[in-house]
Amino acid sequence: MRTTEERSLEQRLALVRKVLALERRKGYADTAASGGLEPFLETHLPEGVQTARGYSGRSPEERRELVDELEAFVDRLEAGVASAGGSVGDSPIEQAVGVGTRRGKQLRRLGMETVEDLLFFFPRRLEDRSQRVPLSELVDGVSATVEGVVRAKSRIRVRRGLELVKAAVEDGGGLLFVIWFNQPWMWEELRQGQRYSFFGKVQARYGELQMENPVWESAGAGFHTGRWVPIYPATEGLSQPVLRGLIRRNLERKGHTLTAVVPDPVRRRLGLLPRREAVERIHFPEGPEDFQAARRSLAFEELFLLQVGLAMRKGSAEDAVRKLAVDRGALDRFAAALPFSLTGAQQRALQDVERDLRSGRPMWRLLQGDVGSGKTAVAAGAAVAVHSAGAQTAVMAPTEILAQQHSLVLGELLGKVGMRVELVVGGMPTKERRRVLEELAGGDVSVVVGTHALLQEDVSFKDLGLAVVDEQHRFGVVQRAQLESKGQETNVLVMSATPIPRTVVLTVYGRFSMSVLDEMPRGRSEVRTVWLSESRRQEVYREVGRFLQSGSRGYVVFPLVEESEEVDLRDATRAHAELSAMFPQAGAALLHGRMSAEEKRGAMGAFRTGEVQLLVATSVVEVGLDVPDASFLVVEHADRFGLAQLHQLRGRIGRAGQAATCFAIADPGTEEGRRRMVAFRDLSDGFAIAEEDLRIRGPGDVLGTAQHGFVSRLRVADLVRDLPLLEEARRAAQALAEEGLPLEVAGEVERRFGDTLEFLGV
Ligand code: ADP
Ligand code: MG
Repeated sequence: MRTTEERSLEQRLALVRKVLALERRKGYADTAASGGLEPFLETHLPEGVQTARGYSGRSPEERRELVDELEAFVDRLEAGVASAGGSVGDSPIEQAVGVGTRRGKQLRRLGMETVEDLLFFFPRRLEDRSQRVPLSELVDGVSATVEGVVRAKSRIRVRRGLELVKAAVEDGGGLLFVIWFNQPWMWEELRQGQRYSFFGKVQARYGELQMENPVWESAGAGFHTGRWVPIYPATEGLSQPVLRGLIRRNLERKGHTLTAVVPDPVRRRLGLLPRREAVERIHFPEGPEDFQAARRSLAFEELFLLQVGLAMRKGSAEDAVRKLAVDRGALDRFAAALPFSLTGAQQRALQDVERDLRSGRPMWRLLQGDVGSGKTAVAAGAAVAVHSAGAQTAVMAPTEILAQQHSLVLGELLGKVGMRVELVVGGMPTKERRRVLEELAGGDVSVVVGTHALLQEDVSFKDLGLAVVDEQHRFGVVQRAQLESKGQETNVLVMSATPIPRTVVLTVYGRFSMSVLDEMPRGRSEVRTVWLSESRRQEVYREVGRFLQSGSRGYVVFPLVEESEEVDLRDATRAHAELSAMFPQAGAALLHGRMSAEEKRGAMGAFRTGEVQLLVATSVVEVGLDVPDASFLVVEHADRFGLAQLHQLRGRIGRAGQAATCFAIADPGTEEGRRRMVAFRDLSDGFAIAEEDLRIRGPGDVLGTAQHGFVSRLRVADLVRDLPLLEEARRAAQALAEEGLPLEVAGEVERRFGDTLEFLGV
């Protein structure tokens, strides 16, 4: 049944349609309605008046565009009457009050697809416009809200293309001039003798007090001025007042369709606002406290929805079946054959893995451990367990050098228990490649190690039981999934040296469980780190000379960034030549990504065996290189590395318990760079480093590109600041998932995070 309000809207629409058609016929002269189109709309179609703002001041072409837009708007309103009652989450943004084609495009560019997206487009910060200042007390350079009557106004054409509207405003005690550039319609907007409120920066000029392009509204409106006003992020050509107006009207008209998401008892326990109130207050807060309360409530809702999504997927993944009959004895024989005894943490991680493999469901485990904590040995143990149940293992590493090293190390560890390890990388000879692939498909190879090359279509397994991904943050989720799909319900072990807070990991990695290597193998010494400016490079190399004289080995590392790759390579090559000349006895090898696989192997081998004592490298050594005797490291242009990278690099030295020194050479040009260098010098614990990194850079960058999309999906929540909320959200979501999920909540999860969850592969 139709309400009277809707019927009268239909009538209004018919009238507006007629007037628009007339306006068109009259050549856009603004004569179709007496008094002009804008006042007409004000009376008959207030929903559309924003679209027609400044109509009388526009050129004929612009007017035609506005009329087009208004007609489209009327169409949609009519359609909306016919199908009234949809929720804001289902209505496309073009159905929002006051949104026409042009504005719809702008909003879509901002990522808004539905009316709900508009209501959930949140401000980043508040601006204090609450202080009202009498005109007589205005001070040059200060921003203030003022109120006064427009006494006189003028339009001044300064030159072609520059026209200004200037008005004198008075409040009984003082005088202020407000000025707008190239906004001719302001002349009409401001009515002489009317009282207005303005906000802007006061400037003393030519003996006058002025405000340029101030925010303005009728006195007493208290909407854009005289209060705390939220400021939105980049708005694609929409002005802040327009955006705020759109949000207000849509909230008024459609806010009632926002249904609760967070269960009431949870919400009350945490002292959070009801949903609609939170949305209202974040856009129109009384002040900072109000704003924070709203922000916190919405952050919780967001994290809660995400966690519900994760819980839902996790539940549905539980149908998958994969059971391996792991032989305990094989694991014991492996441990006994190791050249060291496993740390307690390694043993616990291996027990976790074994339990997962036997559980009947595929394993999804994240192995996290600081540089040098011994993740490789755990991966080897996992491969042994899988092998004992008759299946194969694939280990994927981000670089060829790392893959080569893994295949060497694993070959040694696993050879002793009779397992065959092979390498598959990009540039290998065709014949060799064909042989390995055949034996892999036939099941003769138990472990294959490789780079992305493993993902190629012709790489197939007899029975892939375990996919190990080293340095996961370097791969996309898609690549991990590609590797997994080479088996059936493949078990997955991802390894990472980036220690991120547990809840963040559980969120970002969705269905993964986690094992942590929180114990270093014995005999590991703390690396001494010094940070020196470029001007002291000589000193550094004098100390390097002393290290070399005593027989020590070490690295000199140059950054390598895409934008300056040529220059970086030249730097490294030149340094290699210089150091070879400087220390002829020690010998130096050069290692960088442009070298052929064979050249790289040669350089690595010479350094590993001690034939040369110096390895000059671009940042390729960053991940995973393992030469235990290396005792010093020089990082050139250290400020061009990220904090996590620097820590990884430092983890390359002192691995056999010997004293080791890291020289970081840098003259950082930014405050951020300086903070990074200080943190690197002063912190040695990977976890502390990661937290500092989060503080300096924010979570998006730290979690790596694969996860970036996910983090940017969060509209309010901040994974660092809102960590306590994340814990709560997780608990509440699991409880709700067990009770059974209300349909509205499930729908909301799908809308907000459906594709994100898909993307995360959870
Ligand atoms: P990461 O966790 O950084 O990948 P690795 O697996 O490369 O660390 O191990 C670092 C070094 O520690 C290697 O030389 C490895 O042989 C050694 N290692 C691993 N586990 C132990 C252990 N339990 N006792 C002594 N040395 C170990
Ligand atoms: Mg490693």
